[in-house]
Amino acid sequence: MIDVMTIELDQPRLERLSPSRAGDFKTCPQLFKFRAIDRIPEPTSIYQARGTTAHLALQRLFDRPATERTPDVLFDLFREAWTEVRGDEEFAELFDDVESERQWGLESMELLANYFSIEDPAQIEPMDRELDMLEDLDGITIRGILDRIDRDDDGKLIITDYKTGKAPPERFALPAFFALKIYALLIRRNTGETPKEVRLLYLNGPTMYRLAIDDRQLDAMDSQLRALWAAIERAMRTENYPTRPGRLCDWCSYQNICPAFTDEEPNAADS
Ligand code: SF4
Repeated sequence: MIDVMTIELDQPRLERLSPSRAGDFKTCPQLFKFRAIDRIPEPTSIYQARGTTAHLALQRLFDRPATERTPDVLFDLFREAWTEVRGDEEFAELFDDVESERQWGLESMELLANYFSIEDPAQIEPMDRELDMLEDLDGITIRGILDRIDRDDDGKLIITDYKTGKAPPERFALPAFFALKIYALLIRRNTGETPKEVRLLYLNGPTMYRLAIDDRQLDAMDSQLRALWAAIERAMRTENYPTRPGRLCDWCSYQNICPAFTDEEPNAADS
């Protein structure tokens, strides 16, 4: 989420930034503009519907006693969550017919079953789930929702993010930790405690990628975030959002209006 406020002389000013939108700017400033400044809606996909519903089900799994955290209970929670989610306007007309929705549900259950091969929820007592974080880093307000935070057997903090998309090959996994490192920084800021590890838990793999965290990394992230914030403010001031064509373009919802793919190329120079 990002909030943009108009002040005197129509000069836009950045109010808040989420780790996801920070990642967008880092990947492609033009993508950031489409999403966060212009707020052009993206078509809703069955994958987003699955992600939203699976997150709800996994969150609620930990409301149950440890002995009830079974695949069947998780499947029931998914069905219940979908009954709620499908009522939202954005998901209302996602499926052409009942059969395609049923097929989607079956594939979703297969994905959720994978969860139990990655970790045993009966052994975990989360400190927090869906933690809504709002932190001020000396003038930079960061807002985001953290999937789960636990303590390991040694009492150290572990941050976990669920992913329903396909796991990248391990050699390409590092950039995927960008948002989690921001969350680790916020946790340190908020509690004074440095998390020991961040984890990306990919149901579609299934696999878990882990990254050990230390103060040096978080200090570097702090500097990186400040530099990114300054770059975003500069882009907003000059209205210059360079395109960064790459592999992501194949999945970008805005390709048909992106200057990199049309004849207009006002911001073509990469920064
Ligand atoms: S199509 Fe590619 S270059 Fe254009 S906004 Fe999307 S990611 Fe950026």
